[in-house]
Amino acid sequence: MKVTEHIRNAKSTLFSIEILPPLKGQNISSIFDTMDELMEFSPAFVDVTYHREEFVFRNAGNGLLEKHIVRKRPGTVGICAAVTNRYRVDTIPHIICGGFSRQDTEDALIDLNFVGIENVLILRGDPIRNEGLFKAEEDGHAYASALVEQVVEMNNGRYLDPDQKNVEKTDFCIGVAGYPEKHFEAPNMMSDLRHLKAKIDAGAEYIVTQMFYDNKVYFDFVIQCREIGINVPIIPGLKPIATRNQLSVIPHHFHINLPDELVQLVEKAKSDAEVRQIGIDWCIRQSKELIKGGAPVLHYYTMGKAKSTKEIASAVF
Ligand code: FAD
Repeated sequence: MKVTEHIRNAKSTLFSIEILPPLKGQNISSIFDTMDELMEFSPAFVDVTYHREEFVFRNAGNGLLEKHIVRKRPGTVGICAAVTNRYRVDTIPHIICGGFSRQDTEDALIDLNFVGIENVLILRGDPIRNEGLFKAEEDGHAYASALVEQVVEMNNGRYLDPDQKNVEKTDFCIGVAGYPEKHFEAPNMMSDLRHLKAKIDAGAEYIVTQMFYDNKVYFDFVIQCREIGINVPIIPGLKPIATRNQLSVIPHHFHINLPDELVQLVEKAKSDAEVRQIGIDWCIRQSKELIKGGAPVLHYYTMGKAKSTKEIASAVF
């Protein structure tokens, strides 16, 4: 079922999760372990992240370093198919611009359509690590809005080759990312909101937000979106703090702020277990308030660790 149908049919706030493919060479059992823990909360859908290639440097043996391209977490589409098949739950592959030409994207969407996937989360993707600014592929997309347009074209039965006749229309429900604390490259919030609106105007039907730890940030973002004419569901993304070093890793990696009350609680914690419990309690509080505030779905970034999400879901759903 499409995410928009799940939301339309829901009588209360829905539960959903994001999982990431295991490192290359690892077994899919870690994904099934996560799913086994969380299926009792009936996730409406399960997002599966996509990870583009990275550069690594290896010793060439002559005192020099050699640059290699590796993909550390392949398998997004296979995991979607395996999880849907095993658990009868809707899965949502993340599709990115980075590393894909328009032709690659078209072929990937054809695969997804054949596998029976009905939803996609469309993203630009980050620059390759150590590469500075994002670079689109030759004949690829520079922004997520252009990739949304390509999916919509296929939904309307228009593939890249204009001579192709009698092609099947796809029917993907399209989600996109939103940043309550602004995307790190955007010069200001208004400009970022205008670009978000461009994704919706191109045909995206819902938004999933970057994680945040102060609900005011989300509620203000929803108001700002409504004010500029974005009227689709806005799904909050949540990730419980689990370790002390996340106080610097999360702001560094995701370009968001952590509320001082939370920072002080974690700083004063006497053990790793206490930090984890603080993260869980904080996330439960956030979740309950978001439900009261009318959030359509609560989307949890599990990062391959189901335990905290399970404790939160037990207290909230
Ligand atoms: P866009 O919407 O294209 O925006 C990127 C930047 O460009 C923004 O600053 C925007 O304001 C600006 N912009 C947009 N259009 C224009 C324009 N026409 N002219 C000028 N500026 C413009 N990354 C992955 O690699 N894999 C994943 O699986 C993944 N999953 C994610 C899931 C969620 C819910 C979120 C929030 C992020 C995820 N990301 C993932 C990270 C995401 O790819 C990065 O944040 C990326 O830097 C931006 O992607 P976007 O789709 O928001 O980009």
